[in-house]
Amino acid sequence: MTRRLGIIGGTFDPVHLGHLHIAEQAYAQYGLDRVLFMPTGIPAWKQGRATTPAEDRFAMLAAAIAENPHFEPSRMEIDRPGITYTIDTLRALKTLYGDEVELFFILGADTARDLDGWKDAAEIARMATILVADRPQTEPAWGALATTFVMQAIDTIPLSISASELRALAQAGRSLRYLVPEPVYAYILERGLYRAEKAPESSRVGAAVESSRRTSLGGADV
Ligand code: ATP
Repeated sequence: MTRRLGIIGGTFDPVHLGHLHIAEQAYAQYGLDRVLFMPTGIPAWKQGRATTPAEDRFAMLAAAIAENPHFEPSRMEIDRPGITYTIDTLRALKTLYGDEVELFFILGADTARDLDGWKDAAEIARMATILVADRPQTEPAWGALATTFVMQAIDTIPLSISASELRALAQAGRSLRYLVPEPVYAYILERGLYRAEKAPESSRVGAAVESSRRTSLGGADV
């Protein structure tokens, strides 16, 4: 029975070792029963580039975590039409799992720093324990928000890896092997994702100026 449920949201375009590492450490350090990986449906805040289709992002995620019995992919935000907000997702999870479930919301420091701009941020903090992992090149979230939210640290080896860097690497024709799980690497190759010369309109990667006002688990604009 799931009593302590971790949730990590994101665009996962693509999922990489940074995501998996913070989720695994949160699982172990906070005695979670399960961690849900929740790709966002329409990340409106990622203006300037179209994301890879949700089904590809979900397939990569499912392949990445298939061997881990306490990780589970969730379609909740993908299947909900329009922009979804974290607060709605947390409420939906409470309805699904019942009030006895305790929610733990897993974030990297860059996302955590934006939390106070999210819809119903205080309510989010009441409904879930906020777990934050440091991220290289990002100021720790503690100073900025410590007075507004209670955050708990996930002790990690900070990995300097981001999906945008991986997309840029792939576009430049360089290998993503060992930066993403092997099945994700195979999927990207097989589908020709992130390659500059073959990328369809829906997976074009531009120089995104990404809004910092994220409101869904994966980060939708206000
Ligand atoms: P992009 O570069 O496209 O913005 P990303 O690598 O930040 O993507 P997301 O899917 O946006 O990946 O991130 C999902 C969650 O994982 C966010 O809370 C983010 O802060 C966190 N995260 C991603 N990569 C890391 C990392 N290397 N270390 C710690 N947290 C991370």
